[in-house]
Amino acid sequence: MGFAGILGQERAVSLLKRAIGIDRLPHALLFTGPKGVGRFLTAITVAKALNCLDRVNGDCCDRCPACSKIAKKIHPDVHLVIPEGATVKIDQIRTLTREAPLTPYEGRGKVFILDQAETMTEQAQNALLKTLEEPPRATFLILIAPEASALLPPIVSRCSQIRFAPLPEGVIATRLREQGCEEGEATLLASLAGGSLGRAQELRKSPLSEVWDLVGQVFALPPGRTVPVLELTEQILRQKETVPLFLEALLAWCRDLMVSKVTGRQDLLVYRNREAALRGQSKDLALRQLLAMYRTVKQTLDGLGRYANPRLSLEVMFLMLRDLQAA
Ligand SMILES: [Zn+2]
Repeated sequence: MGFAGILGQERAVSLLKRAIGIDRLPHALLFTGPKGVGRFLTAITVAKALNCLDRVNGDCCDRCPACSKIAKKIHPDVHLVIPEGATVKIDQIRTLTREAPLTPYEGRGKVFILDQAETMTEQAQNALLKTLEEPPRATFLILIAPEASALLPPIVSRCSQIRFAPLPEGVIATRLREQGCEEGEATLLASLAGGSLGRAQELRKSPLSEVWDLVGQVFALPPGRTVPVLELTEQILRQKETVPLFLEALLAWCRDLMVSKVTGRQDLLVYRNREAALRGQSKDLALRQLLAMYRTVKQTLDGLGRYANPRLSLEVMFLMLRDLQAA
């Protein structure tokens, strides 16, 4: 497949292909962008294109022995550096700096891919600086991070940054359908995935039907009673890992309530197959109530990303949502 197998990153891919084609690929690259949009796949493809025995126009063949070894992660010149535990440690970087100057064993270029580079400890980042500054002639380093600000400025300034954009929903939905997802589910997952194919695939594995059931319960909380709020929180916390998914799903539902209220159009909904329920709920609520509900869920979701207490956050959110519906 080569670079053609990378979805929705035409700009990044054409830059890289052109540079490889004329042997001008920068030796220190920083791939930034959200998780699951193709940064790692692109890094592997760059390693293949650099070492491919049958390279054409800066792209790899994906068939030759070099390409196959890289795909199987057994090529002696392509090294993957990933966090050991929570961080990439200084010893891992020391190994890298020892190996970087050596001539390639069998390929044209030595490639080090540092996935989740933002997890490098400060010491590790400092240990990497010298290699980044004067990379050996046949050595290429590809750092992968969500954003440049996640790394120390001297690291960033020594790298050529290539930005990876979130994927359009249509691209994600099409790929999910190719992988056997049915139409309605593909559209829904794509809209919840925030531009990340990886996230869409993760969501696909999670118990979506349970999550929808929980979303429904939020809108059935009886006014004035606190026990159901505590019970619902308890039920959600039983599966901690689905809390963000639940909140994303709830946020999409609140968004759809507004869309349904304002436009009445089914084609603009995330939950297209639940149009009737959305119409019914939004009918009784004013737009300002719906907007306040949306904001409440959004704030909770953002707060959880910053290590807010999940139990407290959920309880407060449910109480606010319940009161907003009654207001
Ligand atoms: Zn090849």
